[in-house]
Order: sequence, then structure tokens, then C-alpha cells
Amino acid sequence: MKVRYSYLGQQFADPDPILAEIKKLVATGDFTLGKPVAEFEKRFASLIGVKHAIGVGSGTDALKLPLKALGVGHGDEVITAANTFVATVGAIAEIGAKPVFVDALDNFCLDVEKVEAAITPKTKAIMPVHFTGEMCDMPRLMEIAARHKLPVVEDACQAILAECDGKRGGTWGIGAGFSLHPLKNLNVWGDSGVAVTNDDAMAAKLRLLRNHGLANRDEVEILGYNSRLDSVQAVVGNWLIPQTQDITEKRIANGAYYDRAFADIKQVRVPPRSNRVKRVFHLYMIFAEDRDALHKHCLQAGISAKVHYPIPIYRQQGLLHLGHRRGDFPVSDRQADEVLSFPVDQHLSREEQDFVIETVRGFYRGR
Ligand SMILES: *Cc1c(COP(=O)(O)O)cnc(C)c1O
Repeated sequence: MKVRYSYLGQQFADPDPILAEIKKLVATGDFTLGKPVAEFEKRFASLIGVKHAIGVGSGTDALKLPLKALGVGHGDEVITAANTFVATVGAIAEIGAKPVFVDALDNFCLDVEKVEAAITPKTKAIMPVHFTGEMCDMPRLMEIAARHKLPVVEDACQAILAECDGKRGGTWGIGAGFSLHPLKNLNVWGDSGVAVTNDDAMAAKLRLLRNHGLANRDEVEILGYNSRLDSVQAVVGNWLIPQTQDITEKRIANGAYYDRAFADIKQVRVPPRSNRVKRVFHLYMIFAEDRDALHKHCLQAGISAKVHYPIPIYRQQGLLHLGHRRGDFPVSDRQADEVLSFPVDQHLSREEQDFVIETVRGFYRGR
């Protein structure tokens, strides 16, 4: 049996309803900040439960623009997770700020108790990452941030509709960024992102920043970027928004099914699952004994298992200038050696999941 990682062919097997909407858009010529964008922003805000959603060019920009709006720039420091995807760090670096890393917990999120030690006079913001669709301990983090008068911008790119203590990811900080990248849970046909906020002044600034700082056709209020959510992608987004709850519930059910099965395999460790969190399984990751051999075994059996990520971001070549070395963030290091990701998407069948589980069981049998 083959168990693919990408389900995009299944998800968009019948693109006709979307293409019909795009055809209507083409007839209007409404290609930049058109009606579909305004509609998508309204629906996305209501989906998450925030006052403002601002469509931007990518998830990276959805993180960068709120930092920029807060005045973070050259020489400033932003605290973030040592095990995140490169885009978090890219967003911080693009505005000239320095990423300051904090190690993860085994739930793959920031170890909030280590944040305080990373704060310096140069710290201007904290960017927690709700990695894999899990949630950071936001009540605790917000308390620490408030004590130090530091704004929080959440990287919620993997965590659409996730919750901590019944409160959604993306609604805790002054701002948050979501990605609509084809591999994310709400996915369009290219690069797009959404910055969200409940703060009116932040929202106004984000609208300026994503469109060259133009207050209107003729007046430049501040210097900004060209980072508008594309009208064509907004059409795709509008088609997907009504499915997002359903997609989320399917991923959660698939995650729970794996969790139950893997709990019986002693060489596999399921990450801690706090019942305070509704995790949305952008990624399904386990800790596995002899991970590389298991990975190879799965690939040979036809299962597209992946490692997120074999080299933690803080040790990547592109970040050597920060002067870190192996061992600085031991939990992230250990995760890089032990984690394995299996498909968990809404199109995955029970047969495929059973095959994954049996393949893992078979690998460890007799050991
Ligand atoms: C996807 C992702 C982003 C944003 O990536 P884009 O490709 O720019 O949309 C940021 N942070 C994390 C953790 C992500 O997974």
C-alpha cells in the first residue's frame, strides 16, 4: 500500500467550482485587493473570532508586518522557538531584528518557563510558535509578557482553530500570523497569509503596510511593502472557509486514532497531550526509537513519512552568525534525532492509517 504525504490531488480533484468563481473574477478585472479579498478577510476574522483579518502575501509576511507595525527593527531582539520552521526566523530577520531562541517542550511548543531568562533590554517582542498545531501555554506566556511590558505576536501558521483553555490560537497576542500555503490546514493555490488582530490601530497599520503604505491612491502615509493577498487566492480561500471546521475535526480524529494505537508500542512515545489544548494536527509527530531506521523502513513500505526537522533551525548554516552550537537547545536537538511525522490530513483513510500503524509495529516486532 502507498501512503502519500500530499493530498492536494484528492482535495482539488474537481476544481470546477473554484474555476467558475475565478472566471467571474476575471470578467471584473478586480485583481488587486478586489471584492473576494474583502469577503475572505471578513469570513476569516469570523472563523477565528477576531475583529480584524488582513490578507497578505504569505505566512511569513503575516508575521513580519505585525512586528513592523509594533516598530520592531534593526538592533531589536525577538524571542522565538529554537525548533520552528525557518519562516518564523525569516520574518524576524527581514526587518533587521535578531531572533533570540528559547528551547521547546516535548509538545513541540516554546518552553514558556525559559522565556524570562532570554529577555534583555533589547527585547522588543515575543513570538511563540504553535508548532504542529499544538498550543503554547499562552496564559503563562501572556503573564510573563505583561510583567515585562512586551508585546506578543503569535505564529499561528500551523494552528488554525487550535485552542488553549478554550481560547483560539491567534487571539492571545496583539497580533498573529496565519499561512494559507498549499500545505497548511486552510490552503490555497499558492503563497498567501493572514495577519489578525483585535486592535484597531494595529489593523489600520497592517492595511497600510501590506499596500506600500498608501492611505489612498495618491498619499503615502508610511513606507510599506507590496504584500497583498491575491484576489485569485482569495477566491480559493472563500471556497475553503466553510470546510475548515470539518477539516479540523477530521485531523483531530485521525490524530486521536494514531495516539491510541501508538500508545501500545513501547519504542514509540506519543508527545504529551494536555487536555487544556485543542490541537489541530497540522503535523502528526511521534518520538521513535531508532528513528532513522524506522523512517527508512516506512519509506520502503511506501509510506511518505517525514522528519520536521532533521536540523533544528538554530543550527542551520544560514544562522551560523548567531554563534550557536549543538547543545545550546538540547530538547530541540533531541527532537531532531527522534521525531517522525506521518500523514494526518482530512483525506487519509482508516486503511492507510492502519497500514502506517502496522508498519511501525512490524518494524519493532521481536526487538
Ligand atoms: C508555514 C509556516 C510559516 C509561514 O510560511 P509561508 O510559507 O510564508 O506561508 C511560518 N511559521 C510556521 C511555523 C509555518 O509552518
